[in-house]
Amino acid sequence: MANKKDYYEVLGVSRNATKEEIKDAYRKLALQYHPDRNKSPDAEEKFKEISEAYAVLSDDEKRAQYDMLGHVGFDQRYTTEDIFRGADFDSIFRDLGFGFDFDDIFNVFFGGRGFRQRATKGRDIAYSIEITLEEAANGAEKELWIQRTEKCNVCGGSGAAPNTSLRRCPKCNGEGRIQRTTRNAFGMFVQVVTCSTCNGKGQIVQTPCYKCKGKGLAENNRKITVKIPPGIDEGYQLRLPNEGELSPGAEVPGDLYVLIHIAPHPFFKRDEDDLIYNLTISFTQAALGNEITIPTLEGNTKIKIQPGTQPGEVITLKGKGMPRFRGHGRGDLKVVVNVSVPKKLTPKQKALLEQLAKEFNENIKPSHKFGF
Ligand SMILES: [Zn+2]
Ligand SMILES: [Zn+2]
Repeated sequence: MANKKDYYEVLGVSRNATKEEIKDAYRKLALQYHPDRNKSPDAEEKFKEISEAYAVLSDDEKRAQYDMLGHVGFDQRYTTEDIFRGADFDSIFRDLGFGFDFDDIFNVFFGGRGFRQRATKGRDIAYSIEITLEEAANGAEKELWIQRTEKCNVCGGSGAAPNTSLRRCPKCNGEGRIQRTTRNAFGMFVQVVTCSTCNGKGQIVQTPCYKCKGKGLAENNRKITVKIPPGIDEGYQLRLPNEGELSPGAEVPGDLYVLIHIAPHPFFKRDEDDLIYNLTISFTQAALGNEITIPTLEGNTKIKIQPGTQPGEVITLKGKGMPRFRGHGRGDLKVVVNVSVPKKLTPKQKALLEQLAKEFNENIKPSHKFGF
């Protein structure tokens, strides 16, 4: 512990760096050392180190304590749990597009013994969102209004009316947790459980808050910005960690799941990363060849119809399909050619076609019947 590196040095920022600079520095380093990205064993150590530095320096109180006490004094005062508690990693990881949130990472680093495992999560909630194919292709930021149970904004979750005091819970002595020792055939076990008298808060409300009636929780409408990564497909689910509900007794909110629906497109059908476009041309265009304008996701483009194109023939435009989800490159745009035959002909057109048929040595008779 004594030879831990200085937190400012670890993040490569000056001692008077602003919060934004600290966050920026951490984002850059996280991108480099995040376990999703960097598989070397050194990277894991490094990631732990930068995350700890960020957890301390991004928190005003912890940073002030660290500045004042230095590493040795600070480490005496804070446990690893306390250092990480309350730090916002998830929104950074989400912005960087990592699927792995801090709960997972904490469990990897601390072998599942981290406080995150003990922290009880609130209820997960699910919403669905409809996006256009263009939004699925380019990625988008969508706003979603959700209704969820959150910390009451009048009492800040304490459940006590503003400017009234709380009483220390007599049952857990303010700890919020109770150690329960049980004995069985295998020995003695110490189990830590949430105190049921104060619901883990350690304190008891004397004058309940008028809004939440002392529960500390209230129903709110909340606008959430959902980042849609490019290449997403119908039926995919995005998980927004800790954007779910805070249930009674839960220490952290549950997660929000956003189910993606993609609205039908006027031109394109999707086949995984490829797009299908059905193009109808006339039989003369098919026979003689032509240049035809078709839509793509980036606007119109011209394609060449070769003379003698057959119905059902596919013209592939490489790389004009959907971007590959969390991958590189794009699928193709496949133009499926359909050849239309005129249903009505003017006398002149009819005469010309009959002449053409004769040229092909075809014996065309009106209302020709097979087999008789
Ligand atoms: Zn309240
Ligand atoms: Zn208690």
